[in-house]
Amino acid sequence: MSSYSLPGWVLLVVFLFSFIGVVSVFLALRGEPDKPEHLSYVEDFIHGAKWHWQWLSNQIVNLWCYCPRCEATLVYDDSSCHNYLADTKKTDFICENCRHSIVASIPGGNKTYALGAVEREIDRRIRTGEYKRQSA
Ligand SMILES: [Zn+2]
Repeated sequence: MSSYSLPGWVLLVVFLFSFIGVVSVFLALRGEPDKPEHLSYVEDFIHGAKWHWQWLSNQIVNLWCYCPRCEATLVYDDSSCHNYLADTKKTDFICENCRHSIVASIPGGNKTYALGAVEREIDRRIRTGEYKRQSA
């Protein structure tokens, strides 16, 4: 019986090594989609303002814009969307620190629409790979 014990141990060692190999390959494959490259892309200039955001499981969260001149947090004005006399609906982003100048103006709708438009632009730049050229 003792002559069978050595091949048994060898098989066990081989099995252990291949098991570790399979696990590390599995983890490497699984790790890739968990940490896509664009997760380090968290700011860009869009419509004249500097936008910052965070990633939460591939979703853009805490998206907001800042003044490219003084870094102040911008305030929004989408009053044209509530005014039925105004022919163009838009959202202005204003810097209170720069004499209330309009830093960015996004046409098409209110604040929710404007944030959605910026989110779509971020998504577009990721899909086209444009963001890599800008951050480099
Ligand atoms: Zn400013």
